[in-house]
Parts: sequence; C-alpha cells; structure tokens
Amino acid sequence: MKLKMAEMRSSITSSSSRRRSEKEVVMFPFMAQGHIIPFLALALQIESKKSFSITFVNTPLNIRKLRSTLPHNSSIRLLEIPFSSSDHGLPPNSENTDVLPYPYVIRLLEASTSLKPAFQKILQDRKPLCVIADLFFGWTASVAKELGIFHVVFSGCSGFGLACYCSLWLNLPHRKINDGSDGYFSLPDFEEANKIHMSQLPLNISEANGEDAWSKFQFQNLSHWFNSDGMLFNTVSGFDQLGLMYFRRKFNRPVWPIGPVLLPSESRASVGKQTEFTSMVCREWLDSKPLNSVLYVSFGSMNTISPSQMMELATALDRCNKNFIWVVRPPIGFDINSEFKAEEWLPEGFEERVKGRGLLVQSWAPQVEILSHNAVSAFLSHCGWNSAIESLSNGVPMLAWPMAAEQFFNAVLLEREVGVCVEVARGKMCEVRHQDLVDKIELVMSNRDKGSEMRKKASELKDMIEIAVKDDDEEISGLKGSSSKALDDFFCAAMAYETEQYSMK
Ligand code: UDP
Repeated sequence: MKLKMAEMRSSITSSSSRRRSEKEVVMFPFMAQGHIIPFLALALQIESKKSFSITFVNTPLNIRKLRSTLPHNSSIRLLEIPFSSSDHGLPPNSENTDVLPYPYVIRLLEASTSLKPAFQKILQDRKPLCVIADLFFGWTASVAKELGIFHVVFSGCSGFGLACYCSLWLNLPHRKINDGSDGYFSLPDFEEANKIHMSQLPLNISEANGEDAWSKFQFQNLSHWFNSDGMLFNTVSGFDQLGLMYFRRKFNRPVWPIGPVLLPSESRASVGKQTEFTSMVCREWLDSKPLNSVLYVSFGSMNTISPSQMMELATALDRCNKNFIWVVRPPIGFDINSEFKAEEWLPEGFEERVKGRGLLVQSWAPQVEILSHNAVSAFLSHCGWNSAIESLSNGVPMLAWPMAAEQFFNAVLLEREVGVCVEVARGKMCEVRHQDLVDKIELVMSNRDKGSEMRKKASELKDMIEIAVKDDDEEISGLKGSSSKALDDFFCAAMAYETEQYSMK
C-alpha cells in the first residue's frame, strides 16, 4: 500500500518525541575535503531535521579523521570501506586529495572504482532506503539500481557550474572550434550557457582529447548517471534555474535544489585547520574596522597563485588603500604547506606599508566567521561553490578569480546571471595587472553606481536564501522554503520508490 504524501512528509520529520527510524540513508563522498565537507554538512542537516539513520561511508583514514569532527552526541554511523592506496600506484596512506599532488588525483579517482564490490556488499547487508553518492561515483548508481535501491547524486557544485562542466566532458566542444572563432565556442547540449572561451577551461579539460585518462574516466562516470534516480544540489532554485534545467533535460530525472547546506561552526573548526587564536585575532581585528570597509581575499582550501600574480595582487592591495584580510599561502612552485615567506614573495616593505589596514593570515582563516562580520564589504575568491554560497548567504558581493574545475562557470553564474560579482582574472598562470585589480576592487567596494547595485543585489540574495531554507516544525509545508521543500520531496520520492519495490516483490 502506498503511503499518502502527507503521511510521508510527517514520517520523515524528526522530532524529539520520535525515535530515529530504521530507515537508513547511506552517504558516500569522494575522498577530497571539498566533497567530504558538503556531504558532512548534509548528513548533519538530515540528522537534525529528519528521522532517518545515517551511515557515512569512506576509506579508513578519512573515517578516522571524521571521528574527531562529528559532534559527540551525533548518531551518524561512520563506516570504513577497505582501501589501500599503494595497491593502486599511489603513495602509501594517500586516501585524500589533500595529501596528493594534482597529477595523482586522476589515479585516486580511477582507484575509487575498485571500491565497487565492497560497496555492493554494504548495500546488500544494510538494504538502505537510499544512497546519496558523490558526483565522481557514478558507478554507485548502477550498483544501487541492480539492487533496487533509490540512488541520487549529490552535487556540492552549482547547477550552472556543473552543467557547463558535464557538457564539456560529454562533448569536448573545444576540440572542434575553427580559426575564426577567437577562441569562443558554445556547448551543444547547453546553448543557454552562451559562449565559453578557451581561457575558461580548467587544465584537464583544455588538454582532453577523448583518449586521455581524465576523458575516459569522466565519460564512464557520467554515463552511469543515467542509472541514478535524481540529483541533489547544494544550491537555491531562485538563482540557479538554468543549470538545474540542464540536468532535468539531460538525464530526465528529478533535480532537488536543497541548499545552501553549510557546516555548523563547531564542526568547521575541526574539519579545517583553523585555530582558536586565529579566530580571535580576526574577530578583534574586524571589530576595530568600520562597517563595509574590508576586502576578504582567499582562494579556497587548496589553491594558490603564481609568484608574479602574488606580487601584482600585493601591489594592488597596497595601492587601493582599503582594509583587507588576505589568506596567504606559498605561491605555485613551492610547498603549499610550508611557512609563508613574506620577505621573499611579497614586495619589499609591503607588510610595513599596510600595517593597521591589512591582516595576513597564514594558510587557513575562519572564513564563515569573517564573511558574516559586518565590516566585510567584498570577497575576492576563486569561486569554489562553498565559498560562493557562504558569501551569498552573508550578502557579500564578490570579485572572481576562478582557477580550476567548474569555478570558471560559477563566476559566470555569479556575474552574468545573478549580478553580484565581477571577474578579475582567470586561472593560476594568467597575466594579472595590479592597476586592473585596483580598479575592480574600487568598483565593487564603492557605495556608488555598480558597487551599490551589486551590494543591493547581494542583500536580496541573502534574503532569498533565508526564505529558501525556512523550515517549520508544524509540518505545514506552506511555510517551508523551496530548499526545505525540495529535501522533503526527495525523501518522499525515495519512500515511494521503496514502497513500489516491495509491492513488486
Ligand atoms: N575555507 C576556510 N578557510 C580558508 C580556506 C577555505 O574556512 O582559509 C573553507 C571555506 O569556508 C569553504 C571551503 O573551505 O567552506 C572551501 O571550499 P570551496 O568550494 O570554496 O573551494 P575548494 O577548497 O573546494 O577549492
């Protein structure tokens, strides 16, 4: 017998009086911090709002790290899937991209397909209600389908960014451009994205020819997506319709925009590398600055820029006379985890000249705390999607310097479609001129013209996000925002699928 919609909605909602249900959700992210973080955020959100049990699957070393990250009272079960990196030509004990140089990332992705038999066994033993798997783990969709288990891909990327990224891998359109195109081309199955330029391609795509390891992996991976039952996105339908539409059309499956799903601050501290001391220094420093007067500069958890770009950026920060916090890491060509040598990598006398108005933070800063401080006016970012939604959730306009993966297209979404961003540079090797950076920083931080328009737009987006994640305990779905409703709809679809599977037996 099928459960009625209202009964389903009520049966998935967690309340203190209701026990956690037997129904289990299995979550399986790729072994990279940028993937594990949004999965963990989603797991914690499901735990707090819904009644399901949650099992979080990953390789032993990642699970070990996660144990110290989960709140002590969490009911989320951490489950190891056996994996030995040295069996796959990877350095010993390398189970996360954060310990691997870039050329090894593809090898880790290829090695991850060897987890299939063990994952199949996990699903056979546990018979979960559904699987929420990483976008790099397309093969899990085929495993789940064989076993009659509901499966979704969870994307920590924007709909628009991932749509461009997938379309590029599926079609490799840049291989077919002709001489008169000036480097521009369109995406054959995503014309709505308008023209893309060669300079917006991440390195692995610009080098792809269909025969290389990345092309082969992505083509295989994406073809498995057709076996999935839908997609979850860490985004908001109100500003990311175009990309979400691409996936509905391409895969003919439901797409549920459930974001932004953000890690609570207790868990952020242990996932990242921030210290209580850095947090205190940043907070006190920001408290001493006027409203909307600070530029925050950070390129995410793993990127850095070239030595010459670093010099230009420092010169721009020196000349523009604005307050700033800059998360500094050694430039390309040096060990990113080594000590930052300001005397070597920054212009002579830089620190002295910006004293009082510039704060350099080594390696890792409490980003969400910074972005939520009212002294912050703008964010110069690589446009990783986590950074972007953290900025938007706080109404902070952005300056985009995309560097890899779908970041180039996140920048397009934010600038062209949403209007809260100005692109300042592209890639880790492009030529950057300090005067150009100064002009754009002044434009975005200004309270006039385009600057004030962007700030207004960013503030509207903040409101839109607040409305989207609105939830209610009274189970009156009319009071829920679009993202909360989407999460309910996803679980209703999983329950309906399970009921259907039983009735067929
Ligand atoms: N982050 C942080 N402090 C830093 C750098 C990064 O807290 O100094 C966090 C940031 O808040 C975000 C994540 O790390 O949640 C970076 O994710 P994103 O998708 O922006 O970029 P990626 O690191 O995956 O390229």
